[in-house]
Amino acid sequence: MLTSVKNTLIALACVLFFGQSFSQSTYYLTAPLVFDGEEMHREWAVLVQGNKIIAAGPVSGISIPENAVRINYPNATLMPGLIEGHSHMLLYAYNLKDWDSQVLKETDAYRTVRATVHARETLLAGFTTARDLGSEGAGYADVALKKAIDDNIVPGPRLLVAGRAIVATGSYGPKGYDHDQQIMLGAEPADGNDLARVVRDQIGKGADLIKVYADYRWGLNEETKPTFTLNELKLINEVTQSSGRVMVAHAKTSEAIRRAVLAGAATIEHGDLLDAETCKLMKELGTVYIPTLAATESTTRYKGWKKGTEPEPENIQVKKKNFKLAMESGVLIGMGGDVGVFPHGQNVLEMELMVNYGMKPLQVLKAATSVNAKAFKLDREIGRIQPGLKADIAIFSGNPSVNISDLRKVLLVMKDGVVYKQ
Ligand SMILES: [Zn+2]
Repeated sequence: MLTSVKNTLIALACVLFFGQSFSQSTYYLTAPLVFDGEEMHREWAVLVQGNKIIAAGPVSGISIPENAVRINYPNATLMPGLIEGHSHMLLYAYNLKDWDSQVLKETDAYRTVRATVHARETLLAGFTTARDLGSEGAGYADVALKKAIDDNIVPGPRLLVAGRAIVATGSYGPKGYDHDQQIMLGAEPADGNDLARVVRDQIGKGADLIKVYADYRWGLNEETKPTFTLNELKLINEVTQSSGRVMVAHAKTSEAIRRAVLAGAATIEHGDLLDAETCKLMKELGTVYIPTLAATESTTRYKGWKKGTEPEPENIQVKKKNFKLAMESGVLIGMGGDVGVFPHGQNVLEMELMVNYGMKPLQVLKAATSVNAKAFKLDREIGRIQPGLKADIAIFSGNPSVNISDLRKVLLVMKDGVVYKQ
């Protein structure tokens, strides 16, 4: 008993001085429910040494090392640290400040300071890894944020960053200003053969992946239309892949999805207007779908929709219908909400909507752990409770495989063997 109290105090000290040398600690964690990234187990124990999981299985089969810090929560579920598939750390909720103003009026320095807070909120919500899909006018501030997190200057999730992202000339915003003015864009424009140079430049400046906007609202009546040609997307992907990275495509229309998938995109972001044909193609080529349901719901609410009291607008109905279509077609579905459009740390909103739109909670837990890890080529490091993988662990009160919103009740967050919240 005394040892247990002492160990708890040591653990608390780790919380207070995270990021130092405490990743050398040994932890023995138990919970009535353990989700290993694939399925739920009862009465498991997980042994962590340094930054690795060294054992996981039934409590009876794992002996407790003498020096281990013991952590047990009753009525709780232990899981791999969650993985956010689509975030923008350099943005914050559009109902607080519209996107144009954030991009055009706020300095990169100010936005970066805010981003450090967003990173902390993300981590403390149980998300130990996140893809950041574009700095939206803040240059390579995401690369700097990632370094500050990796150097233990600020707490945050392990990041995969896109840097500036690539858009076709004329397609992206901010828009509608006097053409005599030089308006800074939310991403880097490039076309034709110049795309090879821009991809290489972004890689050189620290991009872990290349994000392209395969369509955008630039049709005759501002409807969403494809931007890059199939050949342009193929060139982007060829240069990206030869560097060992992947191309990630923002695509809403079925034609842009088709082109991006054929060109070799690893993930399709948003996919609002996917159809049976594009689903079939995605399934065949193993392209992972990141639905961003929370972004669509949030922007629709910001425009005045009162969810629950007013009928669902057409865009929400379409999103719901197509999410079901993707599910029924057997497309691999990952988890990513486009957080930044809505508040950081509220990442679970996307998972709640996935359940609300018809996916089983256990499947949603898989999407945010093992499916995302594989889609982002991180499955040898994270996404499961498995010996040899990094000690990225989150514990939640209750049972999220029954009630997904239990993910809002965070009890513990460990990243790389370091406890950030307990
Ligand atoms: Zn986005």
